[in-house]
Amino acid sequence: MNDKLGKDYRMGELSLEQARELLLERVQRIEEKEEIFLCDAVERVLAEDVIAGHDQPPFSRSPLDGYAVQSEDLQEASRLCPVKLTVIDEVDAGYVSEKRVERGKAVRIMTGAPIPDGADCIVGQEDTDYGEDIVEVYERIRAYENYCFAGEDYKAGTRLLKKDTFLGAVEIGVLASLGREKVTVYRRVKAAVLTTGDETILPGEKLSDGKIYDSNLYMVTARLSMWGVQIAGREHVSDNAGEIAEKIKAVVKGADIVITTGGVSVGKKDEMHEVLRILGVKRIFWKIAMKPGMPVLCAEYKGKLLVGLSGNPYGAAVNLELLVKPVLAKLSGREDMRLQRIQAVSESDFSKRSIVTRYVRGYYIGGMVRIPEGSDASGVLGSMCGCNCLIEIPAGTLALREGDKVWVVLL
Ligand code: AMP
Ligand code: MG
Repeated sequence: MNDKLGKDYRMGELSLEQARELLLERVQRIEEKEEIFLCDAVERVLAEDVIAGHDQPPFSRSPLDGYAVQSEDLQEASRLCPVKLTVIDEVDAGYVSEKRVERGKAVRIMTGAPIPDGADCIVGQEDTDYGEDIVEVYERIRAYENYCFAGEDYKAGTRLLKKDTFLGAVEIGVLASLGREKVTVYRRVKAAVLTTGDETILPGEKLSDGKIYDSNLYMVTARLSMWGVQIAGREHVSDNAGEIAEKIKAVVKGADIVITTGGVSVGKKDEMHEVLRILGVKRIFWKIAMKPGMPVLCAEYKGKLLVGLSGNPYGAAVNLELLVKPVLAKLSGREDMRLQRIQAVSESDFSKRSIVTRYVRGYYIGGMVRIPEGSDASGVLGSMCGCNCLIEIPAGTLALREGDKVWVVLL
């Protein structure tokens, strides 16, 4: 830290943490629920407590291919002196043997089949001569050895999953094991995304002088989709405050949050200030003391957050991760979306000074972090490909040196 660098008032006074708080205090977790098919429920948030309706497995079963027997019969069994048992039945997984295993008897059994009455252990077929009518057993097996009890996984009445659990593949598997065809989850967060700029055209259109393709519309909606957000509108609008305001009016009803990019600086065409005037709303804040992504403009309109991000793609990406993601996490009740900040050792130098907190794109692996080749400018997106973290360089840092300890936010 070096205070001699002083403050840069163009950057604004508000810290990222303060800005985040100002937004978080204005949103409530979405409580609306919906019942959906289990096959659609991965990465959704459970809105019910799930209690087991039956034991899992529902019956005691064999963990091996072998023979269900009485352990008493095998007290003396060995390779030299095999014990001979009469095979009275055969049972595959999915079927039930009606026979009872008495002394001197065995039932041939496959993995997953219910253990017949009377048997108290399973001898694996490797420890036998694989006999069909008479089987020779070479090993002594104790009572309840190779015996998988009913309810080994869970018992009826157990609360298996709590309300608010984020459903990953394992939770989906557990719900399936219960026989659940449908589950109740919270509805997804809905976001509308509008990008602004007379210079941006959409992929598919022909590039002409002065134009660039709209990367923000695709990047922002892609990232939101990765967070399970439903895209309730995605559109590009030209730099016309009236038009932007109309679009916002049109999408706000169907969205929990409206995210725009561009038009939030101080240029002549930075229309978002005028848009707020047209909508008749006051801003919550404008500008955060961070780089990139400084000129964020936030407001509340019809009870929904309006988050105006920088038009610069890298700035917008950083804003999205550090400012918008926590808001979406709160709206959706997703604990797993909390920002993960960890310490790492830098493998790279970064010689630009940082008057305000700076976030540099990086690649983190095994406690080490490296900065990719190429520019770190806020308008540059290409060098961020493959990056998986943002390196936090504290305000007042003159330069980052290889070997320095840094904090990184995982993406
Ligand atoms: P603005 O925030 O509108 O002043 O834009 C800042 C910079 O980001 C300018 O160089 C714009 O051309 C560029 N930009 C704005 N919107 C987009 C977009 N949707 N995709 C790619 N670049 C953009
Ligand atoms: Mg613009």
